[in-house]
Amino acid sequence: MLEPETVVTSSEQETSRAGERFAGRLQAGDVVLLSGDLGAGKTAFVRGIARGLGASPDDVTSPTFTLMQEYPGRLTLVHVDLYRVSPDEVGALGIEESTDAPSVIAIEWAERWKSAPQDAWVVRITDEGGDRRKIELARS
Ligand code: ADP
Ligand code: MG
Repeated sequence: MLEPETVVTSSEQETSRAGERFAGRLQAGDVVLLSGDLGAGKTAFVRGIARGLGASPDDVTSPTFTLMQEYPGRLTLVHVDLYRVSPDEVGALGIEESTDAPSVIAIEWAERWKSAPQDAWVVRITDEGGDRRKIELARS
């Protein structure tokens, strides 16, 4: 993996803005693997991706019962949250077969997806105390 790019934010809005800027680099078929503890800001970042792709960001939430949500935009955003999914169950979700539309797939708790594509984007968010978050972006 190349050296990750690092962005430090100090609010939820800034994290979303970082996601929005990052969306400008995304192309159809791209997969974004997000990791970080609960409350790190993964969903906030995905909300920004949605905005950047021209989808409706306000709809992007942490789905409690829905594991996968689609948001149509310039590219369709497929938002997946594996928080309640064990690694053994991930394959059965058929993440990569989830849509026929030209799409970007963004996955929270992505470390649970053992057969994630090799060329995915990797976004790691670390809580550095208070409202400070370190966001590392890399292409695996
Ligand atoms: P995750 O999806 O990683 O569990 P969320 O995006 O749902 O995290 O929630 C992040 C929480 O942290 C929100 O309550 C948000 O207001 C708060 N927060 C505080 N500072 C930041 C920041 N710099 N970036 C993102 N979220 C932040
Ligand atoms: Mg979340």
